[in-house]
Amino acid sequence: MTTCRDALRAASGMLAQAGVPDPAVDAAFLLSHVTGTPHLLLRAEGWRELTQSQLADYQALIDRRCQREPLQYILGTAQFMGVTLRAQPGALIPRNDTETLCEQALARMQGRERVLDLCTGTGALAIAIALQFPGAQVTAADISADALAVARQNIADTGARVTLRQGDLFAAAAGERFDIIVSNPPYITAEEMADLQPEVCREPALALYGGLDGLDFYRRIAREAPDYLLPGGWLLLEIGSAQAEAVSALLAERFEALAVYPDMQGLPRAVAARLRECARV
Ligand code: GLN
Repeated sequence: MTTCRDALRAASGMLAQAGVPDPAVDAAFLLSHVTGTPHLLLRAEGWRELTQSQLADYQALIDRRCQREPLQYILGTAQFMGVTLRAQPGALIPRNDTETLCEQALARMQGRERVLDLCTGTGALAIAIALQFPGAQVTAADISADALAVARQNIADTGARVTLRQGDLFAAAAGERFDIIVSNPPYITAEEMADLQPEVCREPALALYGGLDGLDFYRRIAREAPDYLLPGGWLLLEIGSAQAEAVSALLAERFEALAVYPDMQGLPRAVAARLRECARV
């Protein structure tokens, strides 16, 4: 007979052997997924015995994680701003880092704003904003049909009021203007793409690769966003931790009140900027 405690210990060892960064944590999340027991209770109830079928299911999930499949793709879910979202290989996994950007967008809202989320992926930013401000008009766009399929499910699951559009950046919002534009665009450089964690390699390259220097999307957004913002509108962007200066420089001409915000590790992670009145065309 195998108890939860035995299974956790064995699984942690296998995950550690495979180089998984937090083996004990992942072992507990996956056992919780198989048994339905909240993961914090698994240790307290370590004496519980697992059935043969639970053991087989658990081993199958541990094998996948040993192959460095991301934990969230195996669980099928990720948490973002307290909301449970579906995580599937067609879309970038929502990250805690991106909550920095979301908090800054929320801090600039009163409730009835028109908001555009570019490169929405799973829909995480748009959904979190729409759930907090049900009176806002939130539009989310992505170029990827696979990502939009995940976003559509997340919108349905959460009941968030979000309009989805397919298109390449602003092409999805032609002729419209917004109070707030948020985006977590692809921003990984060519050099970094060659050296990604095995887990990140399982995520869509389309959602990660930002061109040779990682700044391609910021150049396009800095140039085009003024045509899609209302007077005094805000542009909020997630950035790579080394990109604060370069992105600020791209925005300096047509935006003011530039501010950079750190993530939980203290690294620069989001930039906010307000459209200069005179810059509007
Ligand atoms: N933060 C992600 C990573 O480092 C990248 C997300 C993005 O390119 N927008 O893997």
